[in-house]
Amino acid sequence: MLERPEPNEQLLQTDVAPSASASSSLCSNAHPPTDMPSSVDQTATKHHQQRPTTCEGLASVVVDIAQSKISSPSQSKLACYPKTQYGKQCRSFQAHWYTKYKWLEYSIQHDAAFCFCCRWFKAGTQCSGGASETFVTVGYRNWQKAVQPGRGLEGHDQSNVHKQSFHAWKVWEYGEQIGKSVAHQLSSTQIAHNSAYVAYVADLIRFLVANEKALRGTSEFLGSDSSGFFLSMMDRDFGRDQKLRLIAESIPRNCTYASHDSQNELISMWFQLVQQEIIDRVSQASMYCVMADETRNKNNVEDMCVCIRFIDSKFEAHEMLIDIVALESLRAEGIAKDLLRVLETTVGTSRLVAQSYDGASVMSGCKGGVQKLVSDAVGRHVILHSLFCTQIAPGST
Ligand SMILES: [Zn+2]
Repeated sequence: MLERPEPNEQLLQTDVAPSASASSSLCSNAHPPTDMPSSVDQTATKHHQQRPTTCEGLASVVVDIAQSKISSPSQSKLACYPKTQYGKQCRSFQAHWYTKYKWLEYSIQHDAAFCFCCRWFKAGTQCSGGASETFVTVGYRNWQKAVQPGRGLEGHDQSNVHKQSFHAWKVWEYGEQIGKSVAHQLSSTQIAHNSAYVAYVADLIRFLVANEKALRGTSEFLGSDSSGFFLSMMDRDFGRDQKLRLIAESIPRNCTYASHDSQNELISMWFQLVQQEIIDRVSQASMYCVMADETRNKNNVEDMCVCIRFIDSKFEAHEMLIDIVALESLRAEGIAKDLLRVLETTVGTSRLVAQSYDGASVMSGCKGGVQKLVSDAVGRHVILHSLFCTQIAPGST
């Protein structure tokens, strides 16, 4: 197992502006970097009056270099870098140094070079001193000796402190890449498992509902002798299909879609799909007839079944159950209101030409029955056909 080094905490102060107030808290009695000649120091002092020179240093308040270890080294490329005079010669930072030194960063604001990996991956937080520390704290600016063998950039690159930091950086990068790759694979695999599992559950519920089988039993857990058809068939299918069983076992236990809420939600989705199919078919017909009847369910709620009868383009008669609604009132006004709501939200009432109910006065009454209220609501007479509790044969009128 690879260890990820912790970032250098003292360099995480990214919200401090590189101002005089920020640098004023730094020590003022430190010596200039060992690799920095006095002439350069004077130049630096001229242009960077507030420049700190301690191990806590400038890097913590320089905002135009990488501000976290997840960033890449900040390698600003300029057409011309500021020149510093060394006697009769002028020297400056060079962009092509980035090619050889991947860790190299350059601060435009401070005209100084820093080491990305030593700033973020150096072991411990103690100042090791020496020229290498310059790349972590105040920034390296001795351009005259920057590329001299064993000094400047090369000297830092070959230092033990830097090598350890560089190694820690690459180990951390490798861990990040592996971690992201594994996370991606796990995610895509889990998504595929989830999709296959939900598709199986949805199809199982569709099959049971289409065959009018009760989903739930008296003991709802997998393997129980008293469970309903839903879990019983799951148990059977998992025993026959090992791949399906492994997929089911990979599903988080808090989203198995086996609760009655999930089952009802899936049933509702299937219902909406079936209802839309009926609406589409009825919309092809020039007229239709509505049929409705009520019955009390086991929860003592009066349900009204609403069916649509229509003739398709092949002159074939169809009767389709389009909705079941729980009646709030058993009075004609309440029933008519619920019936009209079903029709208006599905197939509309503009093509309604006939209605068919039982002979009870609340439904078929010619003065205040549902049939009269429906005719009044749609603004025209809608033919009534009453059935006296006889079984309706397909095609009958
Ligand atoms: Zn370094």
